[in-house]
Amino acid sequence: MDDSVLVDLDVEEPNCYLFQKGGVDTTGEASRPVPSVDSVKCTLCGKCGEVCEFHAIVVLPREVMVFEELCHGCGACSLFCPEDAISEKGHLVGDIVSTSGDAYDLLYGRLRVGEAMPTHLIREVRKHIPEGRQAVVDCPPGTSCAPVESIRGADLCILVTEPTPFGFHDLKLALGVTEKLKVRTAVFINKHGLPGPDIDSFCNDNGIPVIGRLPLDRDIAERYSRGELLTRVADHRRVFESLRDGIKEMLTT
Ligand code: SF4
Ligand code: SF4
Repeated sequence: MDDSVLVDLDVEEPNCYLFQKGGVDTTGEASRPVPSVDSVKCTLCGKCGEVCEFHAIVVLPREVMVFEELCHGCGACSLFCPEDAISEKGHLVGDIVSTSGDAYDLLYGRLRVGEAMPTHLIREVRKHIPEGRQAVVDCPPGTSCAPVESIRGADLCILVTEPTPFGFHDLKLALGVTEKLKVRTAVFINKHGLPGPDIDSFCNDNGIPVIGRLPLDRDIAERYSRGELLTRVADHRRVFESLRDGIKEMLTT
């Protein structure tokens, strides 16, 4: 996977850059379209407020107010405005950063503070993945719109879980998502050895490959908290080499 680029789509809290030493960032801004009302043309008829499913545009007795954070940029308000009083303007949602450091080429999104909807930025970051390069994507956790937008269209999804009741519950939800998205899925067990639900047996019973296991180990937690890459520690590297080989095998079969 030497031609790969690491893409951090967990735009609400990207963290892959913490492990990247050196390198120069190239940063661009990402915006999404929101309505802009021409108060000269507007007759305060109320139509835009009626058609907005998200209560992002409100017609008051003397003005029209737009709540840009709530707007999904669907364009319905401008389509239905009888006075052609609504145009589009850009609302800044975050940054798209690319960097080449000592460990890997990295591309990531950084959502602006106060911005509630990460999906538009995720789509914009995906457009910046260099043509012809394999993307290894760090997805947001959970099963909401952001992980769905990140997983959509992937060749393979590896669900990282841990043997706790909470982790097991979330794993089952995430498996439902990848099944719906028709994305091939494998499981990687973090903190393997922790007493808890038997994830190996669950995966075995359901025909889901377990592609790797990282043991519960204080040394791993300490190195991670110091921003060290475990692939540079001989004792831990073999787990990731085996993971890499497993991914290659799954992608070629
Ligand atoms: S639909 Fe157009 S004219 Fe009517 S209130 Fe909205 S912006 Fe004004
Ligand atoms: S673009 Fe869509 S979501 Fe945004 S204010 Fe208009 S109708 Fe509402």
